[in-house]
Amino acid sequence: MKYETVIGLETHVELSTMSKLFCSCGGHSEADQPNDCVCPACCGMPGMLPVTNKHAVELAVRAGLMLNCHINQYATFDKKSYYYPDLPCSYQITQWFHPICTNGYVDVPTKSGTSRIGIKQIHIEEDAGKLVHDDWADVTYVDFNRTSVPLIEIVSKPDFRSPEEVIGYIEKLKSMLRFGGISECEEGAMRCDVNISIRPEGTPELGVRSEIKNMSSLTAIERAIKFEVARHTDALERHTETLVQETRRWDDIKNRTFAMRNKETAADYRYFPDPNLMPVVVDDEWLAEIKDNMPASIEEKTAEYTEMGLSPQDIDSLVSERKLCDLFDAVVKSGCKPADTAAWILTDCAGILRRGGKVIGELDIAPEELSYIIKTVDEGKINRGVGKKVLSAVIEKGVAPEAFIKEQGLDAKVDESMILDTVKKVVADNPKAVSDYLGGKTKALQALFGSCMKELRGKGDPNAIRELLTQEVEKLR
Ligand SMILES: [Zn+2]
Repeated sequence: MKYETVIGLETHVELSTMSKLFCSCGGHSEADQPNDCVCPACCGMPGMLPVTNKHAVELAVRAGLMLNCHINQYATFDKKSYYYPDLPCSYQITQWFHPICTNGYVDVPTKSGTSRIGIKQIHIEEDAGKLVHDDWADVTYVDFNRTSVPLIEIVSKPDFRSPEEVIGYIEKLKSMLRFGGISECEEGAMRCDVNISIRPEGTPELGVRSEIKNMSSLTAIERAIKFEVARHTDALERHTETLVQETRRWDDIKNRTFAMRNKETAADYRYFPDPNLMPVVVDDEWLAEIKDNMPASIEEKTAEYTEMGLSPQDIDSLVSERKLCDLFDAVVKSGCKPADTAAWILTDCAGILRRGGKVIGELDIAPEELSYIIKTVDEGKINRGVGKKVLSAVIEKGVAPEAFIKEQGLDAKVDESMILDTVKKVVADNPKAVSDYLGGKTKALQALFGSCMKELRGKGDPNAIRELLTQEVEKLR
């Protein structure tokens, strides 16, 4: 019999806020030590009262708008009760009765076209802490830095039919959320629970479902899905086991899933509205403000850059990182040409970073600095080679371009007589290279040109220097 795989995803994404969801503690990524970012509120001391982080709500609404959701202008926070040592209150604050966003979709590109994946809801909730198991001392520590860090959980409809769609969806979410300034989605900041079942093709009823918890690597997700499909198929076809609804854990080393516990039902969690928190009311005015502040989407940016005449490769590279777009936009706005600016960022800056073992995403240069360098080159005050030298100093040493150019005397005017003197000196000092060139080795001219540039410390118009040099050497023929 042919079976169809049915998959739904619950994706937890850490929001890029400055502070936690219900207190003013900073984000856990700032913490140096365990339990550095902790206050009485987020570690559940008696009498603590939570206060909702407004920016977290805004980011959740923004995510909903990007995923074509209905924004519920009345939402609530509810308590989900369970006990675990990393959960100091013995309940997690989440949105159960009135989630902030419902009923959206996202189009995922696949090899065979586009798959539309429905979004059931997006709700806001707090993260739990972390248990740190010390293998040597035979103890377990608890670290509350991550406790109450804001998350959104994006719950998809069971619309996936293949691992390829799942991977495509996660990748699309990741780039949308990063681009939209909603989450950095770094390692561990995006975790998925995968719900999976199979059913005979053509039947409407869903099969018995297993849920694989807390997966963050794409390759692990793909392998876990393949393993579960094979396990479910064996159970149905060859009666190897009786399938039960349960929560399972993926073991990356053993390359298989293991049963963790029977799936809890909602009743087990005794959901009830949190009496300490006011409902979240997103009125028309606030919603309009969030919409106004929405950053352009990847599609909008792509269209804008295409209109500017940038190449598809340059556009792909720029939209891979929101901050590259921001830098590019600011430099172009200051009056630099788009294609030229793209080349400075994607070729020159990227090259300098690569030399230092870094990637373009780590670029840290102010738009004013880059714009100053590009304009100084455009105005002919320094040539492009010197411009690159200045750029390296700015990126690698953090110097200010204007001061660096003055200090090094890089903008000193080089007049023609100075170039001619230098060319004559180089020709006189290098008789071997000159005779090689005249003997037919055209490459020898490059060495002479290099010596001229060195003497002139990179200053002067390279084309003019090359022309004068050729003239001088040719005179000797
Ligand atoms: Zn706190």
